[in-house]
Amino acid sequence: MSVPVTFLKGVKSVRAAQLAKLGVCTIDELYELFPRSYEDRSIVRKISQLQDGETVTVCGYVQQTDVKKVNRQLSVLNVKISDEQANMRISVFFGKYGEYQFKIGGLYAFYGKVTKNQYGASMTNPVISEYHGEWDSNFFSIQPVYPLTKGLTQNVLRKMVAEALKVAPPSYETMPKEILEKYGLLRRDTALKNLHFPQNAEMAEKSRYRFKFEELFTLQLMLLKLKDVKTKITNGISFKNADADSKIAQFISMLPFELTEGQKKVWGEISANMDEKKAMNRLVIGDVGSGKTVLAVLAMLKAVFAGYQAVFMAPTEVLAEQHYESVSKMLEPFGIKPYLVTGSLTAKEKREALQAIKNEDAKCIIGTHALIQPDVIYGNLGIAITDEQHRFGVRQRAMLAQQEHTPDVLVMTATPIPRTLALILYADLDVSTLRTLPNGRLPIKTYALEYSMYDRICKWIIRLAGEGRQVYMVYPVIEENEETPLKSVTERYNTLSKGVFANIKCGLLHGKMSSSQKESVMREFKDGKIQILFSTTVVEVGVDVPNAVLMVVENAERFGLAQLHQLRGRVGRGKIQSYCVLFSEKVTERMKITEETADGFELSEQDLVLRGPGDFFGVEQHGLPPFKIANLYQDTEILKTAGDAARYILENKEKFGGFLDFMNKKYPDRVQL
Ligand code: ADP
Ligand code: MG
Repeated sequence: MSVPVTFLKGVKSVRAAQLAKLGVCTIDELYELFPRSYEDRSIVRKISQLQDGETVTVCGYVQQTDVKKVNRQLSVLNVKISDEQANMRISVFFGKYGEYQFKIGGLYAFYGKVTKNQYGASMTNPVISEYHGEWDSNFFSIQPVYPLTKGLTQNVLRKMVAEALKVAPPSYETMPKEILEKYGLLRRDTALKNLHFPQNAEMAEKSRYRFKFEELFTLQLMLLKLKDVKTKITNGISFKNADADSKIAQFISMLPFELTEGQKKVWGEISANMDEKKAMNRLVIGDVGSGKTVLAVLAMLKAVFAGYQAVFMAPTEVLAEQHYESVSKMLEPFGIKPYLVTGSLTAKEKREALQAIKNEDAKCIIGTHALIQPDVIYGNLGIAITDEQHRFGVRQRAMLAQQEHTPDVLVMTATPIPRTLALILYADLDVSTLRTLPNGRLPIKTYALEYSMYDRICKWIIRLAGEGRQVYMVYPVIEENEETPLKSVTERYNTLSKGVFANIKCGLLHGKMSSSQKESVMREFKDGKIQILFSTTVVEVGVDVPNAVLMVVENAERFGLAQLHQLRGRVGRGKIQSYCVLFSEKVTERMKITEETADGFELSEQDLVLRGPGDFFGVEQHGLPPFKIANLYQDTEILKTAGDAARYILENKEKFGGFLDFMNKKYPDRVQL
């Protein structure tokens, strides 16, 4: 079914490699290379009616031409054209070769962007077509505009898609016929043809609608399925226990700080879920530093005091150890000693730990996500909590559901998500948002700077290091490469650690290092043995190094808002004033927004407006298929309709068995329907 692109005429290894960069290896994938936009060359204007800035077609007779040299490589051909009523100028730049040969008196069509000023109308480098007793009808059509990669031009791609449509036309349907009819959607073959080469603007829109619908329909099907699993779980545990609650109240009163209003509210929500017999499935979204860990501890205590085991998982060993240290301290007065289970245990230690988990000697277990594995058998697990992971994997949840009683699940994330979207994306979860930061926390001061300030910042770093403080320096790439002028962490580390920072202990951290190397660098930084950490974005979310007071991000223009905010969240975790410095050749919009906005939720709303939700969410993390054409933010109406269609399918499963099988095969790694 999946024909490789090399099947097409003229597509050999070079073209195939270029296409692969766009994620296109098969003809089906070529079909799903959705145009970014269209060139509508069917709109033809008289010269006298041209408006400044519009992109249209004009037709005219060539009056005169002349060539001017711009420099050694470049010349410009200026052409005066007229259409009975008015004149305009067309400029075509060309290199050593390739001068366009116009015939004086010949009739031509030009498609391009119009400039109009006191000297009249003009167009630069338009698409050109000559009249030979008849027009090339193709010229006056709507042409697709594709995302490109180096070496591939629009024309090459257009030819390839046209060729594919001719020699391997789309042959199968991916949506149930009944749904197509009910919602007036185009058939897949018609929609694909019109998506790439639309008959008219209306057909282009209808085609886009069909594919948006399909994506959102798939999303809704999977979400409904997840939700379905959720409501079926009734063999949960009620942790309601007056004795436990009074101990928890005592614990809260013994904390060195008062819970924020936000923490109190969210704890109320968690606690109420835990009292119910239905298994809890709750997501806590709280900005960096909002104090999620203590909520996890409260939930663990509630389970443990009621006689169950609690497990608290982090994505890395360093984070797990960090939680272990802070939780151990908090639980000491209650005589509860947590167990730490990580990959660095010896075989013997691991055996003992697994034994303790099985026979319930271990009540409170902290470790990496490896704690939800088939080889870890719990005696009596009551709650599983995971930190800094958007979504507790569907598989892991299924694993938990196999227990006699389904444990509660609490997922915590520091990625702020606009609430409306969270409700859709996390339809299977209850969502709590933690919006307040603990009192007395000094807001991080952020500066978006150009490189002229670099030396001053370096001096400042030296001074901070002299005062015993620590600093992060973050870079977009690991190594230098010819294609981009970006600063690399390796080069900067080598240069600066031997140069201006020669007397300061520097460390290097990036994704190509082994995980044990990374862990050991992170540990040295935590222990203060490294003062300046040069890193890529691998520097972990959630790491708590209160002594780190400055985050420097170079080539900050390369990072998204969410990323900048997450990076900034690495500092400002103690009582000392912290700073974030964003460097770029030129300060960008995103950098300015980050400078002005401290609140993660507000930033996430702005990010949505700037970029659309696709990137922000990393939709893939949800176990759901990614979007190529739909936009959750803009296509909310389609989302609703697609939801109705999805519900209809799931309510009439027997009728749509074939379709559901097809979907499960199409998305083997995603939610199975
Ligand atoms: P995050 O939500 O980023 O995981 P943490 O739970 O690590 O945040 O909390 C960050 C810091 O704030 C910790 O040092 C924690 O002890 C402290 N903290 C948490 N809650 C409060 C509070 N209500 N008042 C003061 N400090 C708090
Ligand atoms: Mg945390």
